[in-house]
Amino acid sequence: MKLTRAPNLITAHHWVNVLVMAGIPCELHNRYLSGAMGEIPAEQCAPEIWLMDERDEALATGILDRARNGPERNAKSWRCQSCGETLESQFTVCWQCGTSRDPLNDE
Ligand SMILES: [Zn+2]
Repeated sequence: MKLTRAPNLITAHHWVNVLVMAGIPCELHNRYLSGAMGEIPAEQCAPEIWLMDERDEALATGILDRARNGPERNAKSWRCQSCGETLESQFTVCWQCGTSRDPLNDE
C-alpha cells in the first residue's frame, strides 16, 4: 500500500532508510524517475513510499512524522534493555541486537 509521497528523492531515500532501520519493510516507488521530467506535473514525479504490510501503517506514519520534524528536534535517545546500547529516538529497534524499543516508553 502507498504510505506517503516524499518531496524529493533524497528525502524519500532517508525515509526508506528510517523505516527499514525500524524493521518496517517498504519500497521506494517512482514511476517517472527519468525521461518524462518537465512534461508531467512535478507532483507526479514525486517518489512514493510503499509499505509491504499495511499493518505497519500507524507505526510507519509515526516514524515519518518524527523524520519530517527533523531527527534532533525533541529527540530523546533511549537505551536498549537487552544490550545497553544508546539509540537515537527515531530508531524503534536496536541496531546492535535487534531488540524492540518498549512502546510504553515511546514518547
Ligand atoms: Zn540492543
